[in-house]
Amino acid sequence: MLTDTLTPASLAHSHFDRLMVRVLMPLFAAGALAVGLLWWLETSEGKISEVNRWAYPVMLLVFGGCLAALRRQPRSVRVVRWVGFLSVAVSQLSDLALHLLQSGPLIGNYNAMTLITWLPLVYAVAFFMLEGGHAVWSACIVLALVSAGFTWRLSSPAGHADDITLLVNVLASHAVFIVCLSGWLRMKQLLSRQQGVTQELRVLAATDELTGLSNRRHALERLERLLQRLPGDHPPVALLCDVDHFKRVNDELGHDVGDRVLSEVAEILRRATRASDTVSRWGGEEFLIVLPATPLAEAGEMAERLRLRVATLSSAGAAQNCGGITISLGLAAHQPGEALAAWLRRADQALYRAKAAGRDRCEVG
Ligand code: GH3
Ligand code: MG
Ligand code: MG
Repeated sequence: MLTDTLTPASLAHSHFDRLMVRVLMPLFAAGALAVGLLWWLETSEGKISEVNRWAYPVMLLVFGGCLAALRRQPRSVRVVRWVGFLSVAVSQLSDLALHLLQSGPLIGNYNAMTLITWLPLVYAVAFFMLEGGHAVWSACIVLALVSAGFTWRLSSPAGHADDITLLVNVLASHAVFIVCLSGWLRMKQLLSRQQGVTQELRVLAATDELTGLSNRRHALERLERLLQRLPGDHPPVALLCDVDHFKRVNDELGHDVGDRVLSEVAEILRRATRASDTVSRWGGEEFLIVLPATPLAEAGEMAERLRLRVATLSSAGAAQNCGGITISLGLAAHQPGEALAAWLRRADQALYRAKAAGRDRCEVG
């Protein structure tokens, strides 16, 4: 649902659309202002032309409509882009048509030459406003219309011998311009696809396939970064968590049940933690959670909650034969100046004590 709190930046969905909204809104506002000013100047000086008497209000309506659409409807960004492109294309092409209808050589006609020189702007607008294939096709259609106009002129009484040279020049230069823009567009597409693939690889390299948690390597990178910018109030706490007698689950119920147990334990850990916590699959049936800036007592309560939740696992029913699913946890708060390896070793020692004391419990290192 749309609300009044929408800002231009939140209107559009894709990155490109957001950029378009930011660019288009000031452009349409400036356009509306300029048209309004022209209309006022021409009417106050009493020299408004018959065409502009209608053209200006229509343009004002188009600009105003686009602005209103951009503000209210995120999905209308695409429509507004087409309106922007078509208004430029139609105005330039109709202007060219008027010149082509006049008799006498085009070369030497200052207004016609200025228009022809600036015509590639239409292709640039197509590539800026429209996406991918739409931009290429629209530019090609404009070029086809320009060529058709010139060809018609050559075969009509208005034509002039010098127009052939002009036609060849216009066709060649415009085609080169479109090819360059297409190349630039293709390069942009390839680059963004490559960025997508790189991002996908980065995620794959950081994720554990079975549980979807961070893997050990990614967790270590995060922890190294965490230790470089420790907050002053509370140190981070590491919780090393190991499924008890997991080998028995595998041996008695099979690897598939074992895998399911690991996924469900991972889900419990993920749900119990915040985005700022690091949750990872540390090894086979071992998980590491690091809570940044957390009092040790609070971390102890969380460990206890996790232990109780794992005992209610749905797969625990299947594992009843081998005593249900339980976990043991070892906790260690980071000490000032302590290296990462030494800190995690203390958590591991605490876990070892929990195992030695009979499992299904938490120990603090
Ligand atoms: P303890 O309570 O002392 O931790 O005993 P344990 O049986 O849990 O520990 P142990 O280290 O003897 O066995 C761990 C088992 O976890 C052995 C290994 O086959 C199994 N394991 C490791 N990774 C996976 C996995 O991805 N899937 C499954 N199903 N089993 C795994
Ligand atoms: Mg174990
Ligand atoms: Mg283990």
